[in-house]
Amino acid sequence: MKFTGLSRSVEDYLKAVYTLNERGEAAGTSQLARVLDVQPASVSGMIRRLAEDGLLEHEPYRGVRLTRAGSREALKVLRRHRIIESYLVQHLGFGWDDVHEEAERLEHAASDALVDRMAEAMGHPTNDPHGAPIPTRGGDIDPTAYPGLDEVATGSRITVRSVSDQDPARLRYFESVGLVPGAEAVVNESESDGDHVTLTVKGGRGPLTLTADVARRVTVIEA
Ligand SMILES: [Zn+2]
Repeated sequence: MKFTGLSRSVEDYLKAVYTLNERGEAAGTSQLARVLDVQPASVSGMIRRLAEDGLLEHEPYRGVRLTRAGSREALKVLRRHRIIESYLVQHLGFGWDDVHEEAERLEHAASDALVDRMAEAMGHPTNDPHGAPIPTRGGDIDPTAYPGLDEVATGSRITVRSVSDQDPARLRYFESVGLVPGAEAVVNESESDGDHVTLTVKGGRGPLTLTADVARRVTVIEA
């Protein structure tokens, strides 16, 4: 079966399942409804359709996960999204806080050929402006599950690997305190109850205290 011209909503579903699976979260009806901001009833219908098309399969107690075909399609959308974000920042002067919504629209419209040309013009970047890995044209992606900043122990030395691209205000905050991909920091205090994380960013303002909800939007590499 060859999948060509998947609709925008199908692409968004596959991307949402991929993102939830990647974070180790269950991809059930309620989680998908939340991520996609749609009614649970419409999620059930779409899940049935995508399962019939062989793009995802049910996983007992954890909702759904992508089949190999579904994963391939999700990675294509992610590749388009992340290359478009990179191109807007590198070549068109957009700020990293100002590209996600553009990419959400363009990822469904840009052809793979256009996106390949954009990647070539940038020398085939491996990560987008927020640090997220860019799948290759062949569908390979860094499979490492990096921990969230809310998961590392007190005293850890870390390097920021990526930050969530979802919220422009939060991205501006991260930039203002130097919490950007590649930044090094020491975790001064990480509460066992998971309430907040205090850290000192090398060369940045600090120490900073982040709520656990903000901290988990940052993935890190532990030294
Ligand atoms: Zn984005």
